[in-house]
Amino acid sequence: MSKQTHAFQAEVAQLLHLVTHSLYSNQEIFLRELISNASDACDKLRFEALNNTALYEDAPELQVRLSFDKAAKTLTITDNGIGMTAQEAIDHLGTIAKSGTKDFMSKLSGDQKSDAQLIGQFGVGFYSGFIVAEKITVETRRAGAAAAEGVRWISGGTGDFEVETITRAERGTSVILHLREEALDYANSWKLKEIVGKYSDHISLPILMEKEEWKDGELIEPNNEEGGRQPGGMVKTGEWETINKASALWTRPKKDITEEQYADFYKQISRDFEAPLTWTHNRVEGSTEYTQLLYIPGKAPQDLWNRDKKAGIKLYVKRVFIMDEAEALMPSYLRFVKGVVDSADLPLNVSRELLQESRDVKAIREGCTKRVLSMLEDLAKHDKAPEATEGVTDVLSEEDKAKIGQYSKFYAEFGAVLKEGLGEDFGNQARLSKLLRFASSSDTVSVKGMTSLADYKARMKEGQDAIYYITADTLAAAKNSPQLEVFKKKGIEVLLMTDRVDEWALNFVHEFDGTPLQSVAKGAFDLGKLQDEEEKKAAEDAAETFKPVLAKLKEALKDKAEDVRVTSRLVDSPACLVVTDDGMSMQLARMLKQAGQ
Ligand code: ADP
Ligand code: MG
Repeated sequence: MSKQTHAFQAEVAQLLHLVTHSLYSNQEIFLRELISNASDACDKLRFEALNNTALYEDAPELQVRLSFDKAAKTLTITDNGIGMTAQEAIDHLGTIAKSGTKDFMSKLSGDQKSDAQLIGQFGVGFYSGFIVAEKITVETRRAGAAAAEGVRWISGGTGDFEVETITRAERGTSVILHLREEALDYANSWKLKEIVGKYSDHISLPILMEKEEWKDGELIEPNNEEGGRQPGGMVKTGEWETINKASALWTRPKKDITEEQYADFYKQISRDFEAPLTWTHNRVEGSTEYTQLLYIPGKAPQDLWNRDKKAGIKLYVKRVFIMDEAEALMPSYLRFVKGVVDSADLPLNVSRELLQESRDVKAIREGCTKRVLSMLEDLAKHDKAPEATEGVTDVLSEEDKAKIGQYSKFYAEFGAVLKEGLGEDFGNQARLSKLLRFASSSDTVSVKGMTSLADYKARMKEGQDAIYYITADTLAAAKNSPQLEVFKKKGIEVLLMTDRVDEWALNFVHEFDGTPLQSVAKGAFDLGKLQDEEEKKAAEDAAETFKPVLAKLKEALKDKAEDVRVTSRLVDSPACLVVTDDGMSMQLARMLKQAGQ
């Protein structure tokens, strides 16, 4: 193929404009992005080669090489991964396919300064190269393709790029950055080592750089020692050294890993720019052996509600990367958990389909679920500082102090998703229901107005034999519901449920620790022992007196209401609607109606 010119997709052009016109503080992320692409490319090769070892050609050791040429002002990132065909180069380097970048685009505000900050946080993949390069040349050859089927892609980062066929002996990809004047710093081995150490230490692939050594300058007058020398400098030795640790973090003992390393690793695998809320790291032994390193993010992603959203677990088998987003390893209601599972038992060529059926995988999923629940229970337990008697927080360990407030934070982000588990994971329902938190009609509930069912139970009035709750669209609607009147009057606490999933989730939970959950908006209503004799009598009398009126109302509303009753629910309001005990709640009915059912 002779040289062809292609236009970038409009969004790419827009993105490039932003990248190249923004001065911003976090330039160096370009290297993280390009190394991560190189590493992805090697993972892809390893995966394809499972069924076709010929793809390794004569270079089975996957690696990334960094090199620079000060005189030519270039920095090159070379991998011997999967490479690209011409069509792949055109498609992948000319359009935006990945959702992360699309997300990024949708967040752009038009304000250059804040947008520039966003790039630093998100990274924009391959295009980050243009932060430091005025021109990028990519030379690549797909593994398995002939040397003559190499491809050269060149762009100045404006409207278009050129593609032509070249001959390339080595498989894989070289990304050659033609550095801008102000980015010449990056053609320096110290600088590169520093950045690799920061972002790419845990890449389980060696990153190599050519060793340099000091060389004195040449004698100016070779025959005369007093004639002085040219200034000396570092010269390349032709020997390559590995500059990252290249050890998969999760395989190292816990005690050798710092908090910072854990947090960095999280950022690397999750593409989140904030630190995780917490994590758990264990080697599980027994009939199924695996290592798990699981993180709870600090913030929910925007697409959390998408139940098709892929799980955040990467699967490795004996340190060999197998797949991203291994949904079989985590139940859907824990889809926000990110991390790594490294199995010692699964075959390397395991497919998604096989995963679904594997008994080992089932054991891993159960193990991971339990771990996450324990981690949450631990956060929940330490969420509150002990009652503030003086000096008490001092006896808490630093670790426990750090946990104060964490569970509320978690719950605000992910609580609603966790509730899906009530209907999805019956085996863990009891544990899950202890992790629930609800708003309450009581003013005495202190922790951000949220209470657990256990705390509610502990506050129940004498004679109260149910946990009362109301569901509504908003907290204000719940609080002001006429159905709450009698409870307010009697000082009985009612849980206020306002998450969309509450109604659905409660279909699966009828009691907590032996006490039934009772909607205040359902069915005939009996406060039981909470009503005194006088009140009972009054209610019975009223029912008698109003019989004729009720009969008329029933007749008038016969198409609309199943029953009309006298109630002791209300104090100030004249009437309210309720649903039958087994009926769909109004909230659920509204939800289904909204969904067009
Ligand atoms: P992402 O890595 O999230 O997919 P990028 O913008 O970083 O997004 O890269 C876009 C695509 O270009 C990659 O998905 C991949 O198909 C291709 N690509 C980039 N770098 C390489 C590389 N070194 N080797 C092979 N393919 C690459
Ligand atoms: Mg990338």
